[in-house]
Amino acid sequence: MSKRYTITAALPYTNGPIHIGHLAGVYVPADIYSRYLRLTGNDVAFICGSDEHGVPITIKAKKEGVTPQDIVDKYHAIIKQSFIDFGITFDNYSRTSAKIHHDTAQEFFKTLYDKNEFVEEVTEQLYDAEANQFLADRFVTGTCPKCGNEEAYGDQCESCGSSLNATDLINPKSAITGNIPTLKETKHWFLPLNKHEDFLREWILKGHKKDWKPNVYGQVKSWIDDGLRPRAVTRDLDWGIPVPVEGGEGKVLYVWFDAPIGYISATKEWAEREGKNWEDYWKDEDTKLVHFIGKDNIVFHCIIFPSMLKAEGSYILPDNVPANEFLNLEGQKLSTSKNWAVWLPDYLIDFPNQQDVLRYALTANAPETKDNDFTWKDFQARNNNELVAIFGNFINRVVVLTNKYYGGIIPEPSDYSTIDEETLATVKAYPAVISSSIERYRFREASQELMNLARLGNKYLADEEPWKTFKTDEARTKTVMFVALQIASALAVLSEPFLPFTSNKLKSILCHSALDAESTWDDISSKEVLLPANHQIGKGELLFSKIEDAQIEAQLEKLITSKKANEAANKVVEPQKEEITFEDFTKLDLRVGTILEAEKMPKTKKLLVLKVDTGIDTRTIVSGIAESFKPEEVIGKRVTVLVNLAPRKLRGVESQGMILMTEDEGGNLVFVNPDTDAVNNGLQIS
Ligand SMILES: [Zn+2]
Repeated sequence: MSKRYTITAALPYTNGPIHIGHLAGVYVPADIYSRYLRLTGNDVAFICGSDEHGVPITIKAKKEGVTPQDIVDKYHAIIKQSFIDFGITFDNYSRTSAKIHHDTAQEFFKTLYDKNEFVEEVTEQLYDAEANQFLADRFVTGTCPKCGNEEAYGDQCESCGSSLNATDLINPKSAITGNIPTLKETKHWFLPLNKHEDFLREWILKGHKKDWKPNVYGQVKSWIDDGLRPRAVTRDLDWGIPVPVEGGEGKVLYVWFDAPIGYISATKEWAEREGKNWEDYWKDEDTKLVHFIGKDNIVFHCIIFPSMLKAEGSYILPDNVPANEFLNLEGQKLSTSKNWAVWLPDYLIDFPNQQDVLRYALTANAPETKDNDFTWKDFQARNNNELVAIFGNFINRVVVLTNKYYGGIIPEPSDYSTIDEETLATVKAYPAVISSSIERYRFREASQELMNLARLGNKYLADEEPWKTFKTDEARTKTVMFVALQIASALAVLSEPFLPFTSNKLKSILCHSALDAESTWDDISSKEVLLPANHQIGKGELLFSKIEDAQIEAQLEKLITSKKANEAANKVVEPQKEEITFEDFTKLDLRVGTILEAEKMPKTKKLLVLKVDTGIDTRTIVSGIAESFKPEEVIGKRVTVLVNLAPRKLRGVESQGMILMTEDEGGNLVFVNPDTDAVNNGLQIS
């Protein structure tokens, strides 16, 4: 039965492009679900947009010396293009800097304000006096009071997923200056989540939410059991949506207050364009609301946003929040800052027109119930062993043989054998099998069922061997090819949610558009035949091509290279010491000397006792270089010596000066080694 659905996908944050983790965690499953629902005749609003407010964008803008608007304009365009490139079929992709969103978010805030749903409070908040800035969210890091992660943010710990207030952090530190923050009073509006605790408990824990994924249900339950506290929904920032009430001057809405409202404003924008009523999609109890997100967003979509919707009063609540776990890459956590990622624009340069391969590999190995690992080897295997060897091979044989034997015209079948009948009955059962997996948000299982249908086709051809019967039994060959073509046609339809580009290609090869009506999902079970006899199909073209070892090695190489480059760029260099005057410098008497003798200081690890010819005398210098050099290695070395350093005793030996050392690129200790003989009147600056 046809239903109305509002499907949202987490708003990507516009401070960078998106990578395979985003695709696997949110956008591919959401797209499979939406495409499937449309194919089965439902009314779908698939909604997303760029999340353009919040602290990280202002930090990035400051770093790059541009405005926050420049940052969001740049990445909004890049992200939007990636979604188009990968066939993510949003009905609307909006952005939170749009006027319709500012208006919608302010109106939402105002409604809650007027209904006294906020607590207005002056509290002491973390403040960085040097930066003249309150420190909320990503402006402050510190130790998570729940799990001890030392890099928790002021609004959330990414390690344990806890939602935090900045003042909860242990040992907080400003992300702007590195200073330890002070406390300063400021007024904010708080959403009293504690007030909604009973409702949340009833709705999620005692309601019908047991069908939520165990990871989602478990997290939510533990937060509610821990007790909920008021959350500030405003911030002292200048980038964001201005607080629309008296006393809100200079303040903006908390990004996690405005972002989920972005789903609503994006729906409004779409409805206006399409001549629909947006309220049908957000206020009608018959509409099913589903949020696709990653596990780091569970608290916002299962606790905070539902509390906001409930407080507002006129909205429906989500039916399900099928959050995924995280995808790792080659055994390591995906990381934007460490450049350990596969960025979608880069993928398309290296694998042009192979979007479906990535969609398939990410779905077949999706992090649905636990964190999962993406490896290039697995990607290659999914392509070569499944898409090429099973799906592509089956289609290719069917199309080539039909063209070869019958000039591309589908032959008339004769009587079906038992195997034919069983095969056709199995094909008819597939839509229900795949539907059942998709409707339970089990997309990897669904993708494997699709591949099983292609396997069935391959096996059927291999068993019936039309290339053999062609010479001996014309009627049998025609029947076998007719049955195989029905399987190919079912694959063309059922693959659409998973492999949309391939599905299109296949439909075009099979000339689906010349049929009386485009085949739907349900036709596969209900129609006697999908492709009638005498229907003309087109010429074959390869759906997938083999991925070579060299391509995979190149990707691994690229990952390691970019990681190294990134490490070099982020290398911590010791800061310059305090400034000294010229006079200070001229006090140093630096000479070039030669090491005459060297021996290890007994019972120490680090110290060598050296006899050094300084040009003015031969003196003893104790040097802490024994871990880097053996005594015999340094004898005869020319070195730079600070000769007028006050003598001091080390382990009973008086050291009369100091050898100048530095480090090479590998962090090894090396001598500051003069290559000239014309010295010994002290080093000069010039
Ligand atoms: Zn934590």
